[in-house]
Amino acid sequence: MDVLTSTRAVVKTALERLGYPDEVYELLKDSIRMLKVRIPVRMDDGSIKVFTGYRAQHNDAVGPTKGGVRFHPDVTEVEVNALAIWMSLKAGIVDLPYGGGKGGIICDPREMSFRELEGLSRGYVRAISQVVGPTKDIPAPDVFTNSQIMAWMMDEYSRIDEFNSPGFITGKPIVLGGSHGRESATAKGVTIVINEAAKKRGIDVKGARVVIQGFGNAGSFLSKFLHDAGAKVVGISDAYGALHDPNGLDIDYLLDRRDSFGTVTKLFDNTITNKELLELDCDILVPAAVENQITAENAHQIKANIVVEAANGPTTMEATKILTDRGILLVPDVLASAGGVTVSYFEWVQNNQGYYWTEEEIDEKLHASMIKAFNTIYNTAETRRVDMRLAAYMVGVRKMAEASRFRGWI
Ligand code: GLU
Repeated sequence: MDVLTSTRAVVKTALERLGYPDEVYELLKDSIRMLKVRIPVRMDDGSIKVFTGYRAQHNDAVGPTKGGVRFHPDVTEVEVNALAIWMSLKAGIVDLPYGGGKGGIICDPREMSFRELEGLSRGYVRAISQVVGPTKDIPAPDVFTNSQIMAWMMDEYSRIDEFNSPGFITGKPIVLGGSHGRESATAKGVTIVINEAAKKRGIDVKGARVVIQGFGNAGSFLSKFLHDAGAKVVGISDAYGALHDPNGLDIDYLLDRRDSFGTVTKLFDNTITNKELLELDCDILVPAAVENQITAENAHQIKANIVVEAANGPTTMEATKILTDRGILLVPDVLASAGGVTVSYFEWVQNNQGYYWTEEEIDEKLHASMIKAFNTIYNTAETRRVDMRLAAYMVGVRKMAEASRFRGWI
C-alpha cells in the first residue's frame, strides 16, 4: 500500500468517527491543486539537465497552504500529495491558520554543486511562482533543503514580485527575516512530545535509552537535546548505516563530524544496518528519516516502549496496528513533527508584522502549543478508544472540514 492510499484510509475513518458525510472525504482525500513543473538547469559541465518538480496544495479553506520542499531522488507525485495532506493535519493539530501544501524536486543534491543547486532552487520558484505567495502558499525546508536554499528561493520570488517578500517562504537565515529557533524547531517539538509521552509511561528521560534513525535536521538536533537532558543515545543512523553503543554514543563528536546532509557513519568500520538499529533494545525509538521504515515485517521485533515519529510517514498502517496491539505508545508524525511548521508560522507572523521575537519568546509559544496538542490527542485517544494516529487525524481534519463547510464547498 502506498503512503497516499494508507493516509486516505485513516482520513476516511477519522471523518466517519466524527460523523461527517462521505462528500467531506471526497473533497479531502486529494489535493485541490497539484502542479507538475519541468526545470532546466545549466550544469557545471555546460550541459542542460531538466529536472521534474511538484507543488501540491491540499486544502486552503482555513488559510493559505503551507509546507516544505524536498530535494530527493525518490520524490514522486503520490508522495508529495500525501505529504501535503499530512501538512493540513499538522496545521489542524497545532491550530495554525493554514492548510497543507508540499513541494518536491526529483534530484540528488548530494551530487550537485552549490551553483547547480542555486540554479535549481531559482528555477523551481520561477516555475511555481503563479500559484505561491505569502498569502497563497508558503514553502519551507524539508528533506535535503536548508536555509541557504530558502534564501535563494526568497530572492528569486522577491525579484518576480518586485517587492522584498520575506513572508513568501520560512526557514530563512536570520538576517533575511528568519526566526530564532526555526532550525531546531522540529527537534524541539519532538523533545517536548517525548517528555510528555515518557511521563505517561512512567519513564524518566534522564537515563532513558534512546535510538534515533536519521541524522539530518530533526535527528541531529534531537540527539543533542536528549543527550543534554541526560538521556543515553545508544543508536543513531544515516542513509548508509548505523552506530550502536549500549553505553551511549559520543553525540558531540558525531555532531561535529557529520556533513550537511547528516552523513557520519562512513567514518566508522563497526557499523550496523538501519534494520538492526530499529530493533535495538531501548526505551524510546525515534524514526527521523524517511517513510516506510517500521512495517509489518519488523514491527514485532521493535523493543522500544515508546515510538515517536519525527519523520513524515515512517510507520505503515499495518505496523501501527501491530505496535498498538503490543502496547507500545506510538506518537504519530502529524503531532510529533509539528514543531517545525509551528515555528514557521511564527516566522511568517514576524515577517508580516515586521517585529521580531526573541528565542525565549519563540520557545515559550512552541512549548505551550505542543503540550496542548499532545494532551488533546492523548485524551481523544483515551476517550474514543482509538490509537494516537487516528486520534491525531480526528483532531487534525476537523477545522478543515468545518472551514470547507462554512465556505459552502461541501
Ligand atoms: N517540512 C516541515 C514539515 O514537514 C516543515 C514545514 C513548514 O515549516 O512549513 O513539517
